[in-house]
Amino acid sequence: MVKSYLIIAGGVGGAKIAEGFASYCNPKDLSIIGNVGDDWEFHGLWVSPDIDTLTYTLSGLIDRERGWGVSNETFRALGVLEKFGRETWMQLGDQDLGLHIYRTERRRKGDRPSIIAKDIARALGVNVDIILPTDQPLNTMVKTSLGWLPFQEYFVKERCKPTVEEISFEGADSATITPEAMEAIRSADVICIAPSNPIVSIGPIFAIPEILNAIKERKGLCIAVSPLIGGKAIKGPAVEILQALGHMPDSRGIAKLYHGLIDVIVIDEKDKYLTSYIEDSYCDVWVENTLMLNLEDKINLTKKIIQRAENYNLVRPK
Ligand code: GDP
Repeated sequence: MVKSYLIIAGGVGGAKIAEGFASYCNPKDLSIIGNVGDDWEFHGLWVSPDIDTLTYTLSGLIDRERGWGVSNETFRALGVLEKFGRETWMQLGDQDLGLHIYRTERRRKGDRPSIIAKDIARALGVNVDIILPTDQPLNTMVKTSLGWLPFQEYFVKERCKPTVEEISFEGADSATITPEAMEAIRSADVICIAPSNPIVSIGPIFAIPEILNAIKERKGLCIAVSPLIGGKAIKGPAVEILQALGHMPDSRGIAKLYHGLIDVIVIDEKDKYLTSYIEDSYCDVWVENTLMLNLEDKINLTKKIIQRAENYNLVRPK
């Protein structure tokens, strides 16, 4: 009997499956480890875009059209900053800025980032645990023809246009796992790697050596949902980044990247023909409809994953 679930998630794709699990499972049986590699300081404030996307989605505050930020947002504070000649390409809304002020103030007082993230989630009505992989700084840096850019500069300011030459996760080698992440990985019966960008959303989490070891030593079943359907991303630069770094830009490439870490990959019905290639080379395959356009899709995919996980015969070498 499966009792506890852990999702390892990035931003938008991560939040979609997280919402499915949060709606279908008992909240006390679910935790989510999010990505902090996208974190950056703007206007003196600590911004954590992927963690906030999870928090806003699971609290129901999210702007569903955009997939990030809160609904009914205004950008008046940003307008003021613009008048002072500040760079305002990072769209930080007025309500959102309130959250960043609170987070920054508590970080300055020396509170642990994990506790702050947990308190923010609870205060906004999230009833599942959103866990940070590390409390230490970890920055995803992207090398392009413009030089090394912090992730948000590549993603938001440059709109993912420059070709990626290299990715690095500054601080990952020396970052230590949080006790919450360690406990969640150790105790999970099912770990689900969300359909997030494997390089820039899941990559920073797995770049922490203690996280990778904990995943390798898990007792539970580890499943990844492919973020690519028919060799295309639903949104974002996954295909371009995979190609630029020499990976296969489809679900085979995703399975290969997670090879040795996952027991199963969930691929879309459109990619069914890749099943035997992946099973011969990397791991088991479950074929499902993985396109999540609404809450019903998210819950259906969750249900399928949980039902299949219940019936999966997990044999771990002793
Ligand atoms: P970001 O940090 O906000 O870019 O978010 P993620 O890395 O979590 O999500 C981006 C990935 O989610 C992209 O590669 C998309 O292809 C994938 N994605 C978004 N929606 C869906 C969906 O409905 N189904 C699947 N399978 N993947 C999705």
